[in-house]
Amino acid sequence: MAEHKDNYPRRVRNELRFRELQVLKSELIAPGFQRVTVGGPALEGFSSPGFDDHIKLFFPDDPAAFQPPQATDDGIVWHSDVRPPSRDYTPLYDAERQVLDIDFFIHDGGVASNWAQQVRPGDKLFTGGPRGSLVVPQGYGWQLYVCDETGMPALRRRLEALKAAGFAGQLTAIVSISDAASKAYLAHLAAFNIEWVVGGDEEVIAHRLATLAVPAQDYFLWITGEGKAVKRLSARFETPAIEPQLLRAVAYWHEKDV
Ligand SMILES: Cc1cc2nc3c(=O)[nH]c(=O)nc-3n(C[C@H](O)[C@H](O)[C@H](O)COP(=O)(O)OP(=O)(O)OC[C@H]3O[C@@H](n4cnc5c(N)ncnc54)[C@H](O)[C@@H]3O)c2cc1C
Repeated sequence: MAEHKDNYPRRVRNELRFRELQVLKSELIAPGFQRVTVGGPALEGFSSPGFDDHIKLFFPDDPAAFQPPQATDDGIVWHSDVRPPSRDYTPLYDAERQVLDIDFFIHDGGVASNWAQQVRPGDKLFTGGPRGSLVVPQGYGWQLYVCDETGMPALRRRLEALKAAGFAGQLTAIVSISDAASKAYLAHLAAFNIEWVVGGDEEVIAHRLATLAVPAQDYFLWITGEGKAVKRLSARFETPAIEPQLLRAVAYWHEKDV
């Protein structure tokens, strides 16, 4: 047991900062994925040690008039009673180039998704965080990643880091996509065992998970996607044999109840 504890993912608290950044570029980097690159002096000090960190993006009606809130010792101070809508996204930070990429999966009728499709260089983007990070050791001998398009940026971050570290363990990624063309987003990581579920059939994923034998130790599981699906899929692993610290299950979005 002690052996497991030493190897648990570790929570890290980051200094909370809100930033006003400038859009430098916006491009379709793979079918379904719009990459918006932001930068500017406010990016100084940005830190994101966890592969599945998230930042908050704020979408005010009038960006020219909006002032981002401030993090103080007494809490977050807003300059107005009106809070703009906000959404969570995975930061893809390049410290060398001092730029931050955000990869938006484009879907119908979302504030963030719509913004990403019409944004222009020079526009502003307001961000907050990442406030906390989970630093997941890279060396687990058996790793499982389950996600849909919304988790693909975090998976990409993780696989790129594992590739750079020369990971030689056993890794399975089960990625649910609505359009087969979206595979291109992870094409440079094809050396990893990525199993695609085109059409996003949850039953197919559940059956595949049922065939997996998690070893007694030295494992890590990451399951993200639509909230209810994440709950159902991760239930497969909620046996006493799986340590909760080594199973990370997070809702990345919620299907609206009709
Ligand atoms: C930790 C974390 C990291 C994330 N990182 C990313 C990321 O890097 N890239 C990314 O694209 N997303 C990411 N997401 C998911 C993203 O925050 C949600 O998909 C969010 O709802 C999108 O906001 P929106 O304004 O476009 O849509 P919303 O206004 O929130 O939703 C509008 C409608 O679209 C539906 N909807 C929302 N998301 C999807 C979807 N993916 N597919 C189909 N329908 C959807 C909703 O159910 C609703 O009916 C992340 C989420 C979390 C929690």
